Amino acid sequence: MIKITLPDGTVKEFAKGSTPMDVANSISAGLARNVISAKFNDTVVESVAPLNENGNLILYTWNDKEGKKAFWHSTSHIVAQALEELYPGIKLTIGPAIENGFYYDVDFGADTISEKDFPAIEKKALEIARGKHDFKMHPVSKADALSSYKAQGNEYKVELIENLEDGTITFCDHDTFTDLCRGGHIPNTGIVKAIKILNVAGAYWRGDENKPQLTRVYGISFPKQKELTVYLEMLEEAKKRDHRKLGKDLGLFTFSQKVGQGLPLWLPKGAALRERLEQFLKKAQKKAGYEMVVTPHIGSKELYVTSGHYEKYGADSFQPIRTPKEDEEFLLKPMNCPHHCEIYNTRPFSYRELPKRYAEFGTVYRYEQSGELHGLTRVRGFTQDDAHIFCTPEQLDQEFKNVIDLSLYVLGSLGFDNFTAQVSVRDLETPEKYIGSVNNWEKAENAIINAATEKGLDFVIEKGEAAFYGPKLDFMVKDALGRQWQLGTIQVDYNLPERFDLTYKGSDNELHRPVMIHRAPFGSMERFIALLLEHTAGNFPLWLIPEQAIVLPVSEKHEKYAEKVLSSLENNEIRAQIDARNETVGKKIREAEMNKIPFMLVVGENEEEANAISVRRHGGEDLGSISIKQFTDLVATEINSTLKSFV
Ligand SMILES: [Zn+2]
Ligand SMILES: [Zn+2]
Repeated sequence: MIKITLPDGTVKEFAKGSTPMDVANSISAGLARNVISAKFNDTVVESVAPLNENGNLILYTWNDKEGKKAFWHSTSHIVAQALEELYPGIKLTIGPAIENGFYYDVDFGADTISEKDFPAIEKKALEIARGKHDFKMHPVSKADALSSYKAQGNEYKVELIENLEDGTITFCDHDTFTDLCRGGHIPNTGIVKAIKILNVAGAYWRGDENKPQLTRVYGISFPKQKELTVYLEMLEEAKKRDHRKLGKDLGLFTFSQKVGQGLPLWLPKGAALRERLEQFLKKAQKKAGYEMVVTPHIGSKELYVTSGHYEKYGADSFQPIRTPKEDEEFLLKPMNCPHHCEIYNTRPFSYRELPKRYAEFGTVYRYEQSGELHGLTRVRGFTQDDAHIFCTPEQLDQEFKNVIDLSLYVLGSLGFDNFTAQVSVRDLETPEKYIGSVNNWEKAENAIINAATEKGLDFVIEKGEAAFYGPKLDFMVKDALGRQWQLGTIQVDYNLPERFDLTYKGSDNELHRPVMIHRAPFGSMERFIALLLEHTAGNFPLWLIPEQAIVLPVSEKHEKYAEKVLSSLENNEIRAQIDARNETVGKKIREAEMNKIPFMLVVGENEEEANAISVRRHGGEDLGSISIKQFTDLVATEINSTLKSFV
């Protein structure tokens, strides 16, 4: 018999050779129907693989990330079979699962495929899937594996196998198809009910541009047709909400090849939006006891040697800038933290003066390969809403709670209501990987877990995910399309205080090391605005949007009245403009709609007589003719429902 430990700690005994599926069956028939993959002692195993020793078993269904991975990777085998049948003589290489779906890299030889071929591939793949063929793994000797692929003339698989140890090589069969594979499949092809080929792209063998170019076939699959339909609708909507498109349409930002790749240029409307976001956070931070600091865009190379950043990232960063005469070396600032450590170091602190909280909207520069750049989410220069808190170990608990409060305030005010948190802690089995005393680590991890619990966060603890210098908490936010983003990290750091020799005088009159917390609720202004654009489809919260209303006079005759309306709005702190162009009201409304201005205020003969405005909301809702007072009350109510003051 063998002892199997389940994730909830239950231990059950099974006959040697029992499979994960047998374990699932012993729990419930329902679970067994849904199990598609498993992990045994931290290794992915087939759900039908015999288990021969004691160990920890995790069963996965479609609802788990690991389950989806097995599902999508298995579909890549099915699609590979379909491709082989449709295009005889092609050479298959590798076919992994990715975050959303899978791909297979194929050498099509003289053939090419394009979008018009996708339906035939999908049809063939589905036919194969419906055959309910079992995925069967079996070991193959290196010699046999090599001769089988040499006979097919597939130099790619030969290369892969040459790098494998004899005795570790396995093939996976289903139906008439065989592929070199180390495993991680669903039980049979019949579980795959919907397959979509999404696109094709060029990809070099092994990512090396000196090697042959292959065709990467991307696809995705689902256990229900309905789920594919929903996914495709989501993709369509995501295309409409792409921040690169919206940023252009709304005139927020641009890029210029002359200025350089990955360096966003903020246009007046975008700059106004950023400014409002910064003011919002500055106001809350002031209440939370932060002090603003300003540091330069470059720093001496020595600064980053001290911080350790140079050793770790130097070779992959923008290279040092040299002065013409003194032969000094500077780096473009990749992080604000070392600068803030030196600000702390300007004078001695007593424990009574801590915590010190230094905040800066600090612009940093990081080298990204041009192929990796993407709109505002992957750039080479960006501004962090950065702050560093220096406190005593005893204050960590309270400081962590304060930072969580601030982060929740930011997320709530901007309409991100769907989020969870991830707490990353040490792996207790590898203590040598971490710096700082065990006592401090325990204190910090407990502080984070207590704070997250007390603040009612829905959080998971990830063992072994902490950085070498301290544990952290990340907010994982789901946007309106259900996509997950990491937003707002709170990171404890025992490393930089050590490297910069930061101290404070304790109540015992001795010098002690402060603890440092890095935190940035937005992360970076660029990435945050990109997410906000895609989350809201450009319909920013009313308190944030720089232009809340536009006054549309019906004709020149009513311009004077329009100006009167505008000045009452301004007196009530409503941000508006007049569109006095000699255009029809219809055209002005269409443009205001495209610019996503929340309120259009039409003024003509009737309005002027009644001392009123005709209000139309973005999207078309007609609020009729109302007084300016009624309108300003409406705006105030809407703003107060999303933007509370931070206490
Ligand atoms: Zn496989
Ligand atoms: Zn930092």
